Amino acid sequence: MQQRWACRSTAERLLEQTRKRVAGLVERGIEPHLAVVLVGKDPASQVYVRNKIRTCGEMGIRSTFRELDSSTTTQQLLDVVHDLNEDNGVHGILVQLPLPKQIDESAIIAAVDPDKDVDGFHPVNVGRLSIGEAGLFPCTPMGVMALLEDCGMDLKGKHAVVVGRSNIVGKPMAQLLLAKHCTVTVMHSRTQNPQDICKTADLVIAAVGVPGLVNKDWLKPGAYVVDVGMNEITDPEVAGRLLKDGSKKARSFEEKSRILYGDVHYHSALEVAGKVTPVPGGVGPLTIAHLMVNCVTAAERKA
Ligand code: NAP
Repeated sequence: MQQRWACRSTAERLLEQTRKRVAGLVERGIEPHLAVVLVGKDPASQVYVRNKIRTCGEMGIRSTFRELDSSTTTQQLLDVVHDLNEDNGVHGILVQLPLPKQIDESAIIAAVDPDKDVDGFHPVNVGRLSIGEAGLFPCTPMGVMALLEDCGMDLKGKHAVVVGRSNIVGKPMAQLLLAKHCTVTVMHSRTQNPQDICKTADLVIAAVGVPGLVNKDWLKPGAYVVDVGMNEITDPEVAGRLLKDGSKKARSFEEKSRILYGDVHYHSALEVAGKVTPVPGGVGPLTIAHLMVNCVTAAERKA
Protein backbone atom coordinates (compact mmCIF):
# COMPACT_ATOMS: atom_id res chain seq x y z
CA MET A 1 0.00 0.00 0.00
CA GLN A 2 1.18 3.54 -0.77
CA GLN A 3 1.50 5.07 2.69
CA ARG A 4 1.96 8.64 1.52
CA TRP A 5 -1.64 9.72 1.26
CA ALA A 6 -1.81 12.16 -1.62
CA CYS A 7 -4.75 14.52 -1.40
CA ARG A 8 -4.30 16.17 -4.78
CA SER A 9 -6.70 13.95 -6.74
CA THR A 10 -9.50 14.61 -4.24
CA ALA A 11 -8.85 18.36 -4.38
CA GLU A 12 -8.91 18.16 -8.19
CA ARG A 13 -12.15 16.17 -8.14
CA LEU A 14 -13.82 18.78 -5.93
CA LEU A 15 -12.60 21.60 -8.16
CA GLU A 16 -13.69 19.83 -11.35
CA GLN A 17 -17.17 19.21 -9.96
CA THR A 18 -17.34 22.83 -8.84
CA ARG A 19 -16.37 24.08 -12.32
CA LYS A 20 -19.29 22.12 -13.80
CA ARG A 21 -21.69 23.50 -11.22
CA VAL A 22 -20.46 27.04 -11.91
CA ALA A 23 -21.07 26.47 -15.63
CA GLY A 24 -24.62 25.30 -14.83
CA LEU A 25 -25.28 28.47 -12.84
CA VAL A 26 -23.79 30.71 -15.52
CA GLU A 27 -26.09 29.07 -18.10
CA ARG A 28 -28.99 30.19 -15.94
CA GLY A 29 -27.58 33.72 -15.84
CA ILE A 30 -26.19 33.48 -12.31
CA GLU A 31 -22.58 34.39 -11.62
CA PRO A 32 -21.52 32.93 -8.27
CA HIS A 33 -19.90 35.66 -6.23
CA LEU A 34 -17.71 35.48 -3.13
CA ALA A 35 -16.93 38.58 -1.08
CA VAL A 36 -13.71 38.35 0.91
CA VAL A 37 -12.97 40.76 3.75
CA LEU A 38 -9.52 41.12 5.27
CA VAL A 39 -8.88 43.35 8.26
CA GLY A 40 -5.25 44.40 8.78
CA LYS A 41 -2.08 43.20 7.18
CA ASP A 42 -1.28 39.84 8.77
CA PRO A 43 1.11 38.26 6.22
CA ALA A 44 -0.26 34.70 6.59
CA SER A 45 -3.84 35.97 6.16
CA GLN A 46 -2.78 37.95 3.09
CA VAL A 47 -1.39 34.75 1.52
CA TYR A 48 -4.55 32.75 2.38
CA VAL A 49 -6.79 35.47 0.95
CA ARG A 50 -4.72 35.73 -2.23
CA ASN A 51 -4.95 31.95 -2.77
CA LYS A 52 -8.70 31.94 -2.23
CA ILE A 53 -9.24 34.79 -4.69
CA ARG A 54 -6.95 33.16 -7.25
CA THR A 55 -8.83 29.86 -6.98
CA CYS A 56 -12.16 31.68 -7.41
CA GLY A 57 -10.78 33.09 -10.67
CA GLU A 58 -9.78 29.60 -11.83
CA MET A 59 -13.28 28.32 -11.07
CA GLY A 60 -15.14 31.13 -12.81
CA ILE A 61 -16.42 32.37 -9.45
CA ARG A 62 -16.49 36.14 -9.20
CA SER A 63 -14.72 37.52 -6.16
CA THR A 64 -14.58 40.94 -4.62
CA PHE A 65 -12.06 41.90 -2.02
CA ARG A 66 -12.49 44.44 0.79
CA GLU A 67 -9.33 45.32 2.67
CA LEU A 68 -9.92 47.20 5.91
CA ASP A 69 -7.51 49.03 8.15
CA SER A 70 -6.14 47.16 11.18
CA SER A 71 -7.79 49.79 13.44
CA THR A 72 -11.30 48.85 12.18
CA THR A 73 -13.85 48.60 14.99
CA THR A 74 -16.41 45.85 15.54
CA GLN A 75 -19.19 48.23 14.48
CA GLN A 76 -17.41 49.21 11.27
CA LEU A 77 -16.89 45.58 10.34
CA LEU A 78 -20.50 44.76 11.26
CA ASP A 79 -21.62 47.51 8.87
CA VAL A 80 -19.57 45.94 6.06
CA VAL A 81 -21.02 42.50 6.80
CA HIS A 82 -24.58 43.87 6.88
CA ASP A 83 -24.07 45.54 3.49
CA LEU A 84 -22.83 42.23 2.03
CA ASN A 85 -25.77 40.37 3.59
CA GLU A 86 -28.16 42.81 1.89
CA ASP A 87 -26.43 42.59 -1.49
CA ASN A 88 -28.40 40.09 -3.58
CA GLY A 89 -25.50 39.71 -6.01
CA VAL A 90 -23.22 38.33 -3.28
CA HIS A 91 -23.63 34.60 -2.56
CA GLY A 92 -20.78 33.97 -0.14
CA ILE A 93 -19.12 36.08 2.55
CA LEU A 94 -15.74 35.23 4.00
CA VAL A 95 -14.26 37.37 6.77
CA GLN A 96 -10.67 36.18 7.10
CA LEU A 97 -9.77 35.14 10.66
CA PRO A 98 -8.08 35.88 12.97
CA LEU A 99 -9.34 39.41 13.42
CA PRO A 100 -7.45 42.16 15.26
CA LYS A 101 -7.89 41.99 19.04
CA GLN A 102 -10.25 44.97 19.33
CA ILE A 103 -12.87 43.23 17.15
CA ASP A 104 -15.47 40.92 18.69
CA GLU A 105 -14.96 37.85 16.48
CA SER A 106 -18.08 36.04 17.72
CA ALA A 107 -20.25 39.06 16.92
CA ILE A 108 -18.87 39.14 13.37
CA ILE A 109 -19.36 35.40 12.82
CA ALA A 110 -22.94 35.67 14.11
CA ALA A 111 -23.66 38.67 11.87
CA VAL A 112 -22.96 36.86 8.59
CA ASP A 113 -26.12 35.58 6.88
CA PRO A 114 -25.97 31.80 7.60
CA ASP A 115 -26.85 31.07 3.97
CA LYS A 116 -23.83 33.12 2.81
CA ASP A 117 -21.56 31.74 5.54
CA VAL A 118 -19.09 29.87 3.31
CA ASP A 119 -16.74 29.24 6.26
CA GLY A 120 -19.53 27.38 8.06
CA PHE A 121 -18.78 29.06 11.40
CA HIS A 122 -22.18 30.66 12.08
CA PRO A 123 -24.02 29.17 15.09
CA VAL A 124 -26.96 28.26 12.81
CA ASN A 125 -24.68 26.16 10.60
CA VAL A 126 -23.02 24.64 13.68
CA GLY A 127 -26.51 23.62 14.83
CA ARG A 128 -27.49 22.31 11.41
CA LEU A 129 -24.37 20.13 11.35
CA SER A 130 -25.05 18.79 14.79
CA ILE A 131 -28.66 17.79 14.01
CA GLY A 132 -27.90 16.49 10.51
CA GLU A 133 -29.63 19.22 8.46
CA ALA A 134 -28.28 20.65 5.22
CA GLY A 135 -26.12 23.75 5.66
CA LEU A 136 -22.71 25.22 4.96
CA PHE A 137 -20.05 23.42 6.98
CA PRO A 138 -16.38 24.19 7.75
CA CYS A 139 -14.09 23.67 4.76
CA THR A 140 -11.20 21.78 6.36
CA PRO A 141 -13.29 18.99 7.93
CA MET A 142 -15.46 18.78 4.80
CA GLY A 143 -12.33 18.45 2.67
CA VAL A 144 -11.11 15.66 4.94
CA MET A 145 -14.46 13.87 4.53
CA ALA A 146 -14.07 14.07 0.73
CA LEU A 147 -10.61 12.52 1.08
CA LEU A 148 -11.99 9.69 3.22
CA GLU A 149 -14.77 9.10 0.70
CA ASP A 150 -12.24 8.81 -2.13
CA CYS A 151 -9.98 6.38 -0.28
CA GLY A 152 -12.86 3.95 0.05
CA MET A 153 -12.50 3.40 3.80
CA ASP A 154 -15.71 2.01 5.27
CA LEU A 155 -16.17 4.36 8.20
CA LYS A 156 -19.10 2.52 9.83
CA GLY A 157 -18.18 1.43 13.33
CA LYS A 158 -14.55 2.51 13.01
CA HIS A 159 -12.90 4.23 15.95
CA ALA A 160 -11.91 7.74 14.90
CA VAL A 161 -9.80 9.87 17.22
CA VAL A 162 -9.84 13.61 16.61
CA VAL A 163 -6.93 15.31 18.35
CA GLY A 164 -8.03 18.91 18.98
CA ARG A 165 -11.45 20.40 19.72
CA SER A 166 -11.42 23.78 17.99
CA ASN A 167 -14.65 25.18 16.59
CA ILE A 168 -13.19 25.35 13.10
CA VAL A 169 -11.65 21.88 12.82
CA GLY A 170 -11.87 19.44 15.75
CA LYS A 171 -15.53 19.77 16.73
CA PRO A 172 -17.04 19.85 13.21
CA MET A 173 -14.70 17.00 12.22
CA ALA A 174 -16.06 14.92 15.08
CA GLN A 175 -19.67 15.70 14.06
CA LEU A 176 -19.06 14.72 10.44
CA LEU A 177 -17.40 11.43 11.42
CA LEU A 178 -20.23 10.70 13.83
CA ALA A 179 -22.72 11.27 11.03
CA LYS A 180 -20.86 8.60 9.05
CA HIS A 181 -21.30 6.18 11.98
CA CYS A 182 -17.76 6.30 13.35
CA THR A 183 -17.25 5.88 17.06
CA VAL A 184 -15.60 9.20 17.80
CA THR A 185 -13.22 10.22 20.57
CA VAL A 186 -12.19 13.87 20.80
CA MET A 187 -8.91 14.55 22.59
CA HIS A 188 -7.62 17.90 23.84
CA SER A 189 -4.91 19.43 25.98
CA ARG A 190 -6.30 17.98 29.24
CA THR A 191 -6.84 14.44 27.94
CA GLN A 192 -5.11 11.88 30.12
CA ASN A 193 -3.06 9.08 28.56
CA PRO A 194 -3.52 10.47 25.04
CA GLN A 195 -1.17 7.94 23.48
CA ASP A 196 -3.10 4.97 24.87
CA ILE A 197 -6.40 6.36 23.59
CA CYS A 198 -5.02 7.29 20.19
CA LYS A 199 -3.45 3.87 19.80
CA THR A 200 -6.90 2.30 19.66
CA ALA A 201 -7.93 4.41 16.64
CA ASP A 202 -8.50 3.13 13.12
CA LEU A 203 -8.48 6.73 11.95
CA VAL A 204 -6.62 9.66 13.51
CA ILE A 205 -7.27 13.28 12.60
CA ALA A 206 -4.64 15.57 14.10
CA ALA A 207 -5.65 19.23 14.38
CA VAL A 208 -3.63 20.50 17.29
CA GLY A 209 -1.05 23.10 16.30
CA VAL A 210 1.77 21.20 18.04
CA PRO A 211 4.37 20.15 15.49
CA GLY A 212 5.03 16.42 15.37
CA LEU A 213 2.89 15.61 18.44
CA VAL A 214 1.42 12.40 17.00
CA ASN A 215 4.23 9.92 16.43
CA LYS A 216 4.46 6.18 15.91
CA ASP A 217 3.92 5.50 19.64
CA TRP A 218 0.43 7.01 19.30
CA LEU A 219 -0.62 4.81 16.38
CA LYS A 220 -2.12 1.38 15.89
CA PRO A 221 -0.47 -0.52 13.03
CA GLY A 222 -2.32 0.23 9.79
CA ALA A 223 -4.16 3.28 11.15
CA TYR A 224 -5.08 5.99 8.66
CA VAL A 225 -3.75 9.38 9.72
CA VAL A 226 -4.89 12.78 8.47
CA ASP A 227 -2.60 15.64 9.45
CA VAL A 228 -4.43 18.97 9.52
CA GLY A 229 -1.62 20.81 11.32
CA MET A 230 0.28 23.59 9.60
CA ASN A 231 3.06 24.87 11.79
CA GLU A 232 5.93 27.07 10.78
CA ILE A 233 9.20 25.76 12.23
CA THR A 234 12.09 28.19 12.53
CA ASP A 235 13.88 26.75 15.59
CA PRO A 236 16.81 24.55 14.44
CA GLU A 237 16.46 22.39 17.56
CA VAL A 238 12.80 21.60 16.79
CA ALA A 239 13.67 21.03 13.14
CA GLY A 240 16.48 18.66 14.19
CA ARG A 241 14.02 16.64 16.27
CA LEU A 242 11.40 16.41 13.54
CA LEU A 243 13.27 16.16 10.28
CA LYS A 244 15.07 13.07 9.10
CA ASP A 245 18.80 13.66 8.55
CA GLY A 246 19.58 14.20 4.90
CA SER A 247 15.91 14.27 3.88
CA LYS A 248 14.57 16.77 1.33
CA LYS A 249 12.83 18.63 4.16
CA ALA A 250 16.00 18.80 6.26
CA ARG A 251 17.89 20.22 3.28
CA SER A 252 15.11 22.72 2.65
CA PHE A 253 15.28 23.85 6.29
CA GLU A 254 19.06 24.30 6.04
CA GLU A 255 18.51 26.48 3.01
CA LYS A 256 15.55 28.60 4.15
CA SER A 257 15.74 28.36 7.97
CA ARG A 258 12.01 27.69 7.99
CA ILE A 259 9.69 24.87 7.08
CA LEU A 260 6.00 24.01 7.30
CA TYR A 261 5.40 20.96 9.45
CA GLY A 262 2.26 19.15 10.53
CA ASP A 263 1.01 17.84 13.87
CA VAL A 264 2.15 14.34 12.95
CA HIS A 265 5.77 13.23 13.22
CA TYR A 266 5.71 12.23 9.61
CA HIS A 267 8.54 9.78 9.05
CA SER A 268 8.02 8.09 12.41
CA ALA A 269 4.26 7.72 11.71
CA LEU A 270 5.01 6.14 8.35
CA GLU A 271 6.73 3.26 10.15
CA VAL A 272 3.39 2.19 11.64
CA ALA A 273 0.47 3.85 9.87
CA GLY A 274 -1.45 2.54 6.87
CA LYS A 275 -1.59 6.00 5.32
CA VAL A 276 -0.48 9.48 6.37
CA THR A 277 -1.29 12.78 4.64
CA PRO A 278 1.75 14.98 4.00
CA VAL A 279 2.27 18.61 5.03
CA PRO A 280 2.41 20.68 2.93
CA GLY A 281 0.35 19.43 -0.01
CA GLY A 282 -2.10 17.43 2.06
CA VAL A 283 -5.17 18.90 3.71
CA GLY A 284 -4.40 22.53 2.69
CA PRO A 285 -5.56 22.16 -0.94
CA LEU A 286 -8.67 20.27 0.24
CA THR A 287 -9.68 23.21 2.42
CA ILE A 288 -9.54 25.72 -0.39
CA ALA A 289 -11.26 23.30 -2.79
CA HIS A 290 -14.10 22.92 -0.34
CA LEU A 291 -14.42 26.66 0.03
CA MET A 292 -15.22 26.71 -3.68
CA VAL A 293 -17.81 23.95 -3.12
CA ASN A 294 -19.44 26.04 -0.39
CA CYS A 295 -19.52 29.15 -2.63
CA VAL A 296 -21.27 27.30 -5.41
CA THR A 297 -23.64 25.57 -2.98
CA ALA A 298 -24.61 28.95 -1.52
CA ALA A 299 -25.23 30.34 -5.02
CA GLU A 300 -27.31 27.30 -6.08
CA ARG A 301 -29.46 27.49 -2.96
CA LYS A 302 -30.10 31.19 -3.54
CA ALA A 303 -31.03 30.45 -7.15
P1 NAP B 1 -6.64 25.66 17.88
O1 NAP B 1 -7.88 26.46 17.78
O2 NAP B 1 -5.43 26.25 18.49
O3 NAP B 1 -7.01 24.33 18.67
C1 NAP B 1 -6.04 23.40 18.99
C2 NAP B 1 -6.65 22.25 19.74
O4 NAP B 1 -5.62 21.30 20.04
C3 NAP B 1 -7.29 22.65 21.06
O5 NAP B 1 -8.54 22.01 21.19
C4 NAP B 1 -6.31 22.17 22.11
O6 NAP B 1 -6.90 21.72 23.30
C5 NAP B 1 -5.70 20.96 21.42
N1 NAP B 1 -4.36 20.67 21.95
C6 NAP B 1 -3.33 21.52 22.16
N2 NAP B 1 -2.26 20.86 22.65
C7 NAP B 1 -2.64 19.57 22.76
C8 NAP B 1 -1.99 18.39 23.20
N3 NAP B 1 -0.73 18.41 23.64
N4 NAP B 1 -2.67 17.24 23.17
C9 NAP B 1 -3.94 17.17 22.72
N5 NAP B 1 -4.62 18.27 22.28
C10 NAP B 1 -3.97 19.44 22.30
O7 NAP B 1 -6.18 25.11 16.46
P2 NAP B 1 -6.98 24.84 15.08
O8 NAP B 1 -7.45 26.12 14.54
O9 NAP B 1 -7.93 23.71 15.25
O10 NAP B 1 -5.77 24.35 14.17
C11 NAP B 1 -5.03 23.19 14.47
C12 NAP B 1 -3.90 23.05 13.48
O11 NAP B 1 -4.46 22.90 12.18
C13 NAP B 1 -2.97 24.26 13.36
O12 NAP B 1 -1.67 23.81 13.07
C14 NAP B 1 -3.54 25.05 12.20
O13 NAP B 1 -2.56 25.83 11.55
C15 NAP B 1 -3.97 23.91 11.31
N6 NAP B 1 -5.06 24.24 10.36
C16 NAP B 1 -4.87 23.87 9.08
C17 NAP B 1 -5.85 24.09 8.14
C18 NAP B 1 -5.64 23.64 6.74
O14 NAP B 1 -6.28 24.14 5.85
N7 NAP B 1 -4.75 22.69 6.51
C19 NAP B 1 -7.04 24.72 8.52
C20 NAP B 1 -7.23 25.07 9.86
C21 NAP B 1 -6.22 24.80 10.77
P3 NAP B 1 -7.70 22.70 24.32
O15 NAP B 1 -9.04 22.92 23.67
O16 NAP B 1 -7.76 21.91 25.56
O17 NAP B 1 -6.89 23.96 24.43
